[in-house]
Amino acid sequence: MKKITIAIDGHSSTGKSTLAKQLAKALNYIYVDTGAMYRAVTYFAMQQGFVGEDFLDKEALLNSLSLINLSFKFNENLGFAEMYLDNNNIESAIRSIQVSNLVSKIASISEVRSKLVQQQKQYGVDKGVVMDGRDIGTVVFPNAELKIFMTASAEIRAQRRYLELQQKNENVSFEEVLKNVTERDAIDSSRADSPLIIAENAIVIDNSYLTKEEQFNKIFNLATDLINAD
Ligand code: C5P
Repeated sequence: MKKITIAIDGHSSTGKSTLAKQLAKALNYIYVDTGAMYRAVTYFAMQQGFVGEDFLDKEALLNSLSLINLSFKFNENLGFAEMYLDNNNIESAIRSIQVSNLVSKIASISEVRSKLVQQQKQYGVDKGVVMDGRDIGTVVFPNAELKIFMTASAEIRAQRRYLELQQKNENVSFEEVLKNVTERDAIDSSRADSPLIIAENAIVIDNSYLTKEEQFNKIFNLATDLINAD
């Protein structure tokens, strides 16, 4: 059967990865969470003391960039791939609010982007991939057959994220989550290199008032129509 490339971009906390994971499973495709890769570089930079709330030692980070070895390893029990830095599973560490608060700063560095984009392109050479992020339809796979741009109101997104973090016992207020979501969108959309914009031919989905199931069905049907087309 024909394989296609599916690019899912959009604002922070719109449920891109949940949707992308479901879609990849249903189509038997590879799923790649590119946000996890930017988070992993941020986590590395934090550990090395290269970045904090009010400082960034860009030169030190760039000098270490070639040493950063990222990979995904599939976890059979969870049913998805987890992020590794060298041989360390950092999947849960990269989801903290501290990493969320610094990631957009790191993601605006061009050298970081080109390293990660190169790796992302490799994952998609054989198609049959669902990749989510901010620049997948514009930069990583501009020729993707299906491009989706997901959005929702900032308050609804922050509310969903807040509940998720509470379930993980992260001590964070709704206001802090809302601030993080809106600040990340602002930085991601205004940076010089690969800003978050709606890719040409992308289908925009505002999921503020869509159930996960309605959204999945809509996108799954779009994908299967393309796969079955001549
Ligand atoms: O998708 P997630 O929210 O985990 O992404 C975290 C951050 O990584 C984004 O806010 C953005 O700054 C950066 N990112 C990016 N390009 C991508 C994926 C994520 O700049 N393709």
